[in-house]
Amino acid sequence: NPVVAIVGRPNVGKSTIFNRIIGERMAIVEDVPGVTRDRIYSKAEWTNKEFHVIDTGGIDLGNEPLFSQMKQQAEMAIDEADVILFLANGRDGITGADEEVASILHRSNKPVVLAVNKIDNHEMEQLIYEFYALGIEDVYPVSGSHGLGMGDMLDAVIHHFPEKEEAEYDEDTIRMSVIGRPNVGKSSIVNAVLGEERVIVSDIPGTTRDAVDTVFERDNQEYALIDTAGMRKRGKVYENTEKYSVLRALRAMERSDVVLMVLDIEEGIREQDKKIAGYADDAGRAIIIIVNKWDAVDKDDKTMSEFEEKVRDGFQFLSYAPILFLSAKTQKRMQHLLPMVKQAADNHKLRVPTNVLNDVILDAVIMNPTPTEANRRLRINYATQVAVGPPTIVLFVNDPELLHFSYRRYLENRLREAFQFEATPLKVLARKKN
Ligand code: GDP
Repeated sequence: NPVVAIVGRPNVGKSTIFNRIIGERMAIVEDVPGVTRDRIYSKAEWTNKEFHVIDTGGIDLGNEPLFSQMKQQAEMAIDEADVILFLANGRDGITGADEEVASILHRSNKPVVLAVNKIDNHEMEQLIYEFYALGIEDVYPVSGSHGLGMGDMLDAVIHHFPEKEEAEYDEDTIRMSVIGRPNVGKSSIVNAVLGEERVIVSDIPGTTRDAVDTVFERDNQEYALIDTAGMRKRGKVYENTEKYSVLRALRAMERSDVVLMVLDIEEGIREQDKKIAGYADDAGRAIIIIVNKWDAVDKDDKTMSEFEEKVRDGFQFLSYAPILFLSAKTQKRMQHLLPMVKQAADNHKLRVPTNVLNDVILDAVIMNPTPTEANRRLRINYATQVAVGPPTIVLFVNDPELLHFSYRRYLENRLREAFQFEATPLKVLARKKN
């Protein structure tokens, strides 16, 4: 999907506009139990066109001077986006900072739509004229707080979407991506997988060559390695900021069937690893946890199981993800990687026969009767798989409210025992039907 990035100096209203654009989606997302995340990236839709929005203002660049932060945000937007939504404050008029951002944007070839914010009524609309001096053709008055002008602005944004979408692959092609914090060894793993110098790895930051998706074949199976580009254009300050790497990971995951979540055994598990893993789980992709740099630790016969325990403890929501210890450097156990990816992809799109599915559910209910509440017992009438990637099973029940978390978890576990669901999330939903 096309990507729209919002840029502009602080306090012009970027996050308000971001929230307006994503609309109800935000509420839906916040409903999901778990960590509340300050979102800087979301899906959105306007006139049936889907896209992604990034609020570059939400990317914390630490103690950098404001000017340099804005410049970096603008560069980030140019790197990431198909269309840039440049936001200014109509009540302040053009400021030096606006001019600075405009000049950076002009140097790129990316289409820019300028939204002049805080135009809360008709009379104020004349305030936008001076903004034409920034040299941007598309100028729109908006009011983030009142939700005015959003439609015209979004029409203009959508008008600039590229004709051709990003690469699409055959259904049989396994799309995989490699995600993780900086320096855990993502590029090294990509290199080891490809077995040739497709991506340059070096100890010196900033030397990785521009990369694009790489398609290759192994054992009669076609794979597309999605450009995670945490590996691309390295060396810019923002490349190493946490939110940026999360953003990168999100974009890569969206296009993947299988996600390789890389950890560094030397560094252990960090907060940032957990955040990335949380997004990976949300994304509904098959996941393999890679523990890299196996060569670099002193080990005995317990090293692996001890670290595995840490991983299981730190990522409880990823209990379905297999763990592979390897060394990209010495290639130790690298040979297991692609077979595991293939298996994970197969499981992710596994379709189970309805009759077998219902037998498993029936057995599960006999073993452990359904819960009751206020003298009402959950009754499961019928189960059917409604989707793959990830496998999604709908239970038709007398009252969905009666399907509690723990019983749902129990059924999920029984299904995992009965079928090959390793590496893939599994959705079990309930619908009312008597
Ligand atoms: P990325 O930022 O995740 O792409 O990480 P890189 O692939 O650039 O690797 C970061 C650093 O870790 C580099 O200095 C690599 O040489 C080193 N490295 C990567 N994999 C391994 C490994 O398996 N063992 C050891 N000892 N070092 C590794």
